[in-house]
Amino acid sequence: MQITESKRLFAHAKNFIPGGVNSPVRAFRAVGGEPIFIKRADGAFLYDEDGNSYIELINSWGPMILGHNHPMIREAVIKAMENGTSFGAPTAREVEIAELIVSMVPSVEKVRMVNSGTEATMSAIRVARGYTGRDKFIKMEGHYHGHGDSFLISAGSGAITMGNPDSPGVTVGTAKDTLLAPYNDLEAIETLVAANKGEIAALILEPVPGNMGLCLPKPGYLQGLRDICTREGIVLIFDEVMTGFRLAKGGAQELFGVTPDMTTLGKIIGGGMPVGAYGGKKEIMEFVSPAGPVYQAGTLSGNPIAMAAGLTMLNYLNTHPEVYSRLKEIGMQIAAGMASINHKLGHDFTINQLGSMYSLFFTEESVTDFESAKKSDTALFGKYFQAMLKRGVYLAPSQFESLFLSTALTDELIGKILQAHEESIKEIL
Ligand code: PLP
Repeated sequence: MQITESKRLFAHAKNFIPGGVNSPVRAFRAVGGEPIFIKRADGAFLYDEDGNSYIELINSWGPMILGHNHPMIREAVIKAMENGTSFGAPTAREVEIAELIVSMVPSVEKVRMVNSGTEATMSAIRVARGYTGRDKFIKMEGHYHGHGDSFLISAGSGAITMGNPDSPGVTVGTAKDTLLAPYNDLEAIETLVAANKGEIAALILEPVPGNMGLCLPKPGYLQGLRDICTREGIVLIFDEVMTGFRLAKGGAQELFGVTPDMTTLGKIIGGGMPVGAYGGKKEIMEFVSPAGPVYQAGTLSGNPIAMAAGLTMLNYLNTHPEVYSRLKEIGMQIAAGMASINHKLGHDFTINQLGSMYSLFFTEESVTDFESAKKSDTALFGKYFQAMLKRGVYLAPSQFESLFLSTALTDELIGKILQAHEESIKEIL
């Protein structure tokens, strides 16, 4: 595989952009080698600056659930652009998308649009603090909620990949209000709650975490959190930036039948444009300015082009339940296919999969939380990543990520992915 142009661009980029990239994990530091510069994407494929093509298994880290450059979304964006790119004033489309989100996501009675998942989680915590009059909140080890200061403590995703889950620049004063707990451990939450009685505003988590690799909630865990939060007056926030509109049209909360008080959303909600949102119970959301005293704003929030893309995507998902049955089928085919290849080759690596999300961990122990995820052989993952890339399959460049499948994957492409997997495992072991 020739990547001369990508190499040239990366060397040039490092002169002007820190580390040469606009988001750390893109630099491929965890897997070695140099990043591939992408020129265009279509359906199930990415095309790089050197003319190579790759089957996509990350899909822009989640948003492209129907594959890249979907004609329906492209047309909606082009049509919206004919009327101008930003107004900074209310539009009919914002009301339409808000009403649709409320109808799709069980916990959301009112919703505010923002520009990223990071903004959504930062704002949700502020609102929960304003609503309860309390300062502290609980976060799970290895979960990632964007790069807001108070979340960069034992953070997952790129933060673990880069080896700085606790970032310089986050003050001790900020960090002291973030209480950490292991995922899937209700006892630990009870202990934290007892030690900080009446002081905890919120408990935020990824209900099905993807940012330490994919982990699944133990039976009863999410309901257990719901019960504790109800009893203690703690605002339960599901960060569904990854899982929202992906695991089901109403997200993990619909799939597991547990309704939080607030939900944060991103990725799919913008159909590939920069969008996030937070919403929840009316009585909590009424605290948001200008209805209430908690300030939160955005020059480009509810941007008409972004709303056109998001609305088109959500309308489609809302009216096409077969998307979810097909994604489940694709996810199971890939996970079962990989597991049987691994077994045949004598390596029963753990694969966690739910619907269109999966992670292959280079450990044979089960992975249920941050501690067990960290037992993976990350050096071996790096070799696997490179072996798959060489065979034209584009994975997330870190062990601590979930992959995101799209409906653009055909049975033929799944066959190619599995073949690449078998050849790669044979090559690296
Ligand atoms: N929350 C979760 C669960 C995420 O996975 C991410 C990003 O991957 C974020 C929040 C932050 O979203 P953004 O990158 O759009 O700021």
